[in-house]
Amino acid sequence: MDHRTIYEIKNMTHSYEKGPRTLDIDYLKICEGSVTGIVGPNGSGKSTLLRILAFLEPHTGGSLFFDGLDPSGNEVDIRKKVTYLLQNSYLLKRSVFENIAYGLRLRNDTNDLQERVYDSLKRVGLSPSKFAQRLWYRLSGGEVQRVALAARLALHPKVLVLDEPTANVDESSALLVKEAAVSAWKEWGTTVIVATHDLQWLAEVSTDIISLFRGKIVGHGTENLVQGPWVRENGNVVRALSDGQKIRALIKEEAELLAATINPSDVKVIIDPENLTANANKIKGTVTGMTLERATGSSLISVQTGDIILKSRMTVEKTRDLQISPASEVTLAFSPEDVRWI
Ligand code: ADP
Ligand code: MG
Repeated sequence: MDHRTIYEIKNMTHSYEKGPRTLDIDYLKICEGSVTGIVGPNGSGKSTLLRILAFLEPHTGGSLFFDGLDPSGNEVDIRKKVTYLLQNSYLLKRSVFENIAYGLRLRNDTNDLQERVYDSLKRVGLSPSKFAQRLWYRLSGGEVQRVALAARLALHPKVLVLDEPTANVDESSALLVKEAAVSAWKEWGTTVIVATHDLQWLAEVSTDIISLFRGKIVGHGTENLVQGPWVRENGNVVRALSDGQKIRALIKEEAELLAATINPSDVKVIIDPENLTANANKIKGTVTGMTLERATGSSLISVQTGDIILKSRMTVEKTRDLQISPASEVTLAFSPEDVRWI
C-alpha cells in the first residue's frame, strides 16, 4: 500500500464566527489510499473537520497541507480531486442519469458517458435499466443516497469524504453504500475519510481511526470513551455504571474529570479474577460482539457492562484459548492508571 501523505495538519484550529473553538488539532496525517474513520460523540467536530478536509469550510488558524502543498489559491483544482457526501443528500431536479452525468458534464469529461454512468449505478446496486431514467422524486431515501454516491464515484475522486453516509438510510442501502465506498478504495486506491457511528464496520475496514472529543484528537484507533458523571470518592474518581459496578480512575488535578478514554489494549479479559492485583478495576459483563480489527489483525471484543460497552483488544489466538464467544460472561480488568483524562 502507498503511504504517501495526502493531508497534513499542524496546529490547526477552527471556530465558527464569534463562537468557541470547534477544532484544535496539534497534528494529523492522513495517508493516500487509507480508509480513515472519524469517530466521536455528536458535537465533537467530525462534520467540521470533514468540511475542512473537503475544502468547503476554511480553517481559521494553523496549517493544512494537501498533497504537500498549501491549498490556498488552489481550492478550485483541489475540489476536483476531493468529493464529499452528506448524510442527507439532495438530488438535482432531473433524472437519475442526469444527476450522475452532471459532474462529468461540468468537467467536459463526457467520453463514454453512458457507460460510466451505468457503471456508477451498478456500483451502488441500482440497475441502470430500471433506474437511469427515473426522476429524482421517485426514489426512496436509501436510493437517493445511493444515487448521490454514484454521482461522486463517477468522478473517480482521489479522496472521498463521507459524513455519516449511512445514518439515515435503511439497512440494505447502508450495506450497499459501504460496499461501494470500499470498492472505490480497492479498485482505484481512493482515499476514504468517513465519519460514522458504525464502529463495527470501521474496525473491519479502516486502516486508521481518529477519535475526536470536543474538537481534539483523543486517540488513534478504537478507543473506549467513558463520559461522566465521574464523581470523587475516597481519593479516586469513579463512574458508576447502571448496574451498580464502578470504574475507578486516578485524580489528575489539572484535568476536568469529565470524560476519559481507555485503550482497548489495556483492557484484559479475565476468566479467573482471583489472580488480579487488588487495585485493578474488575468489571463484569457479557460479550456482545467480536470483530477482526483490520488495522491491527487483532480481535476486538465488545462487552456490555451496565450502560456502556467496553472493548478489549487481544490476539486471535488468545480469543481461542479463552474460548470467548458472544454471550460469554467475562470479567474485564484494567488499572485505574489506564483510565486517561481528556
Ligand atoms: P459533529 O459532526 O461531531 O456532531 P460538528 O462539527 O457538527 O460536530 O459540530 C461541532 C461544534 O460546532 C458543535 O458545537 C456545533 O454546535 C458547532 N457548529 C457546527 N456547525 C456550525 C455552524 N455552521 N455555525 C456555528 N456552529 C456550528
Ligand atoms: Mg456531524
